[in-house]
Amino acid sequence: MKFDTIVRGGNVVTPTDTTVTDIGIVGEKIAAIDFGLVADADTRVIDATDHHVIPGVLDVHVHLELPFCGTVSSDDYRTGTRAGARGGVTTLIDFAIPYAGDSLAMAADNWMKKAEGKALIDYTFHICITRWNEHKDQIKGMVDRGFTTFKEFMIYESEGWQSDDRALFGTLEKMKEYGTMLLVHAESARVLDELIARHHTPELMKKYGAQLHAMTRPNFIEAEAIQRVVMWSEVTGGQLYIVHMSTAEGTEIVKAAQARGVPVIAETCAQYLVLNDDVFADKDGHLFACCPQLKKPADSARLWEGLKDGEVSVISTDTCTFTREQKAMWAGDWTKIPMGMPGLETLLPVAYTHGVLDKKISLEEMCQKLSTNPAKIMGLYPRKGAIEIGSDADLAIIHPNRAHKIAPSQMETNADWSPYEGWELSGFARTTLSRGEVIVDDYKVVGKAGRGRWLPRSYAGLAGSNAEPRMSRLSRGPLSPLRAALIESLVSQ
Ligand SMILES: [Zn+2]
Repeated sequence: MKFDTIVRGGNVVTPTDTTVTDIGIVGEKIAAIDFGLVADADTRVIDATDHHVIPGVLDVHVHLELPFCGTVSSDDYRTGTRAGARGGVTTLIDFAIPYAGDSLAMAADNWMKKAEGKALIDYTFHICITRWNEHKDQIKGMVDRGFTTFKEFMIYESEGWQSDDRALFGTLEKMKEYGTMLLVHAESARVLDELIARHHTPELMKKYGAQLHAMTRPNFIEAEAIQRVVMWSEVTGGQLYIVHMSTAEGTEIVKAAQARGVPVIAETCAQYLVLNDDVFADKDGHLFACCPQLKKPADSARLWEGLKDGEVSVISTDTCTFTREQKAMWAGDWTKIPMGMPGLETLLPVAYTHGVLDKKISLEEMCQKLSTNPAKIMGLYPRKGAIEIGSDADLAIIHPNRAHKIAPSQMETNADWSPYEGWELSGFARTTLSRGEVIVDDYKVVGKAGRGRWLPRSYAGLAGSNAEPRMSRLSRGPLSPLRAALIESLVSQ
């Protein structure tokens, strides 16, 4: 076979084994995985000796150029996707949110425009349902257009995004009908509002500052909401995905629900694994405000355990970047902090350094949580998410221990701060390939803005798959005829 590119001699992580071998690429696809592939005169050979070669990362929870908290998140599709590429991210999924009077289709069109001409890596969107009465009859049209994941927020009444139980229940019924999946931001709005109101006094704000963000969001705020929406998933059979789960209590609820056969999947984010709410006491504590907020070390420990055991299936970032100047809008009132952090650039480095090098998860488990599981759950497998013949040649080549010190001035993100500033992290991409093209070379972004493509989808979650409900086993398991046909159709696109 004649190859356009050969990635030579790396420690390659495939769904079946990890071994030193070569990867042969023809056009945009992986065409061979075998040792000693032969290059001809035109073949580009990328030396991966003494490096890990892993599937490109999917960050399935990202907000670029999002109007939120009275401002607009500062990483757009140009800087956000460059930041991702440097961290080995080759696919991202953003959230298309309809604004005043917008239909779901208009929200998707709006987000398409943000990405076109700017995106360096491939992308698609979760479609947010913010006004159930208006949007419920538009869901099927979005499925037909290639969107298979939807999102509802149990909070954010002031942004006009909040869904009530009627909307959650009704959407989950539709997810069951269409074989699609509902993502939910689970926090208990009414009790949260009450706790915020009780603490919103000049005296307490002066005394506690940004610590009030954590003080008004005790763990039960998340746990109660997860429990409630899990019930709606259980009775409707609609596939549910809990985004950015941050608590030990939430993890236990999801584990118990999965054991009962409830079609619920959970995601956590890098920041909940390695940071805790002590940061809010620092001078710059307000910078760390994100939603849900950082929790305790015991919560992080339980989330790592959940990743290992399987009840937590995905690590993402909830990237929503705000600069120091934007964060300064808070002026001492924690309810006015633009909530969110940069994350795309550091997802793989944090997971690799604090997961793999710290021996909390194996290299293979990390690839499942960052690539294979998110691709399968979001309906992008086998095109994305694994090093397999026929898949897109999306690869990250990382040095096993070469560390970079985190310095915002040397990063691709627009953020002028980082939650990990000064940390030494390994796992930045020496080389990133997207559909066979080198977009990061020697740790520098070399790919062109606008080359990234929108990714249509035809399924989500466990629908169309005979995989067992526990995500830890998702990468194994035999293929059903239905699933095999699906994979065939995806590969031949
Ligand atoms: Zn989010």
